[in-house]
Amino acid sequence: MAFADKYIGALAASNLLDDGRHHQAGPLKAAALADRSTRNLGALLHRVKYGGTVIQKLAKAVAERARVEKTLADAVRKKDEQKQADCRQALEANDAACATAGSEAAAFRALLVDWCEIVAKKGRDRNWIKPADWPKIGHLAPAMYRRVAEHSLAHYLDDVCKTCSGTGSMEGRATLRACSACSGSRRAAVTSIAGLSDYEVRLVGQMVDELHALEMSHAGLAGALLRRD
Ligand SMILES: [Zn+2]
Repeated sequence: MAFADKYIGALAASNLLDDGRHHQAGPLKAAALADRSTRNLGALLHRVKYGGTVIQKLAKAVAERARVEKTLADAVRKKDEQKQADCRQALEANDAACATAGSEAAAFRALLVDWCEIVAKKGRDRNWIKPADWPKIGHLAPAMYRRVAEHSLAHYLDDVCKTCSGTGSMEGRATLRACSACSGSRRAAVTSIAGLSDYEVRLVGQMVDELHALEMSHAGLAGALLRRD
């Protein structure tokens, strides 16, 4: 059984007794231990990703919020009052959606804060904005890092290929063939995102890959600890 499956089982177990007969708490403990080396991020990724659709909706709401805020700023600049009213209404609905997300929201927010910090550091270290462009557009960097972080996390949390429902294959005339949308990878690719430039969409794709790598390394570490028990 993959670590993620064991972890889901432990989360779902109503009884976390960890005696000779009940080992449900094992994966939770292993996840916590594995985190000593990757900060808190790995366990938060697992908790949030496999915590249910509430979290996926919340992640989308957060990413959507950034987009609406940008549209609102444009509308204010262009003195488009109807658009401003629409945006404010969308933001209110967004607030309400975030407020009803309940206790899992705390785990998600903690993850988002950490991930935004990590992405901003990567952005600076990798010169997402070239040194020559800093005097002109450097002040836009924090918002750009935030957009990339929020959209990559939202995509990662709900990236099952919709065409094949995550099976990686489609029924052909006689045999199964690889899904044409995801080429068998089972994951939806990051294509265009409203409000983001092509360059930013590429960066979102890279960050989604890094979230998967983080999850894999965390799961590997936690799985190894679990086997040692
Ligand atoms: Zn597919």
